[in-house]
Order: sequence, then C-alpha cells, then structure tokens
Amino acid sequence: MGRLLFGSDCERTEPLGADMDQTMTETLLNSIRTIPDYPKPGVQFRDITTMLGNPRAFRRCVDELVQPYAGTRIDQIAGIEARGFILGGAIAHQLSAGFVPIRKKGKLPHDIVRVAYSLEYGVDEMEMHKDAITPGQKVILVDDLIATGGTAEGAVKLLTQMGADIVAACFVIDLPDLGGRKKLEELGVTVRTLVAFEGD
Ligand code: AMP
Repeated sequence: MGRLLFGSDCERTEPLGADMDQTMTETLLNSIRTIPDYPKPGVQFRDITTMLGNPRAFRRCVDELVQPYAGTRIDQIAGIEARGFILGGAIAHQLSAGFVPIRKKGKLPHDIVRVAYSLEYGVDEMEMHKDAITPGQKVILVDDLIATGGTAEGAVKLLTQMGADIVAACFVIDLPDLGGRKKLEELGVTVRTLVAFEGD
C-alpha cells in the first residue's frame, strides 16, 4: 500500500497543508477506506463512502472544499458521475450555486454535448446537457479523486466547449504519482485537492 501524503492544494511533500489543520487532515485520512486490489489486482481503491457516512468528516470535507470560494460568485458546480454528484450537490448548496451533472453516455434526457475521454485501458464518453451552462458562467468542477486525470480532462473539455469560466477543479483525493493534477494544470486549470496518497 502506498505511503500517505498529507496536505491540501499543491502541498505534496510537506507533512501538513498550509491552510488545513492537522486534525482536519487526519479526520479526512482516517475516514477514507482503502480496499486493496479493487476493482482489479494492484489497485488501491480509495473508498470515500466511509467518509460520507461520517457526519463530522463529511461536513469538514465540504467546508474545506468550499472555503476558498465563500463570498465569491460561483454560478454552477459541475459534478462528475457518480461520487462527484454527492460532493458537488453539497458544495453547490453551500455556495448558493446551481448544480450540473456530467454523466456517462446515454443517461441524460435532453440535448447533450459529448466528449470522449481516456481511461487506463481504452476510451469512454461523457455527456452534459447543452443548455446546462451559459457562456461566461463561473464553474467549479468536482469529483472525489484525480488519478490519471483523463476523466477530469474530458469534463474540462466539455465545460470549455460550452463557454464556462472554470474557476477550479476540486477533488478530495489526489494520486500525484499518476499525473492527473499536472495534466489539468497544463490546461490552465487551477486544481484543489485535500489529501494525497502515494501510488495508484
Ligand atoms: P482518472 O480519470 O484516472 O483521473 O480517474 C478518476 C476517476 O476514477 C474518478 O472518478 C475516481 O472516482 C475513479 N478512480 C480512479 N482511481 C481510483 C482509486 N484508486 N480509488 C477510487 N477511485 C478511483
């Protein structure tokens, strides 16, 4: 199993993030369950259902993700199916923003825009309603975890295509060894993460 890396935002080597206290980091890390070899051998699955089921950890997680944007205008939170819906809904409520679902193909009922994105093996497609974003709207993208960044990159492409002003992409967990954060930053997207785990 990978060594834990603590911290928020870009803090990958410091033991603690500059803007997140130790209790908070530990609360989050202790509430995330690791399932070895799921869904396939060699993968350490970072399961946030245990964090979601822990009232204190869930609240602190949402508070921490929201904190930099409190008092600023955010129009829409775009959540990636499916765990991004849970976090994104709570964040949207806190920021008095709308919520836009980014879904796997074939799930949305109205006119859609679609993008192909890369998975570890192969490609898939994700979709968003065509009228979900008005050009120029300030949008925060949310998912539970960033690994290779293929999923988030696809979502960024969809949002950009719709004319969104992407304020940031927020994740609870970063797997820095897989390079997703760097990939998004190279696209000019600000990335915010709360905790990191070494390895995949
Ligand atoms: P990626 O496109 O490689 O950045 O993968 C990110 C997406 O896959 C997110 O929606 C995550 O929920 C999921 N994911 C990838 N790796 C893991 C992991 N080790 N544990 C839990 N979820 C993961």
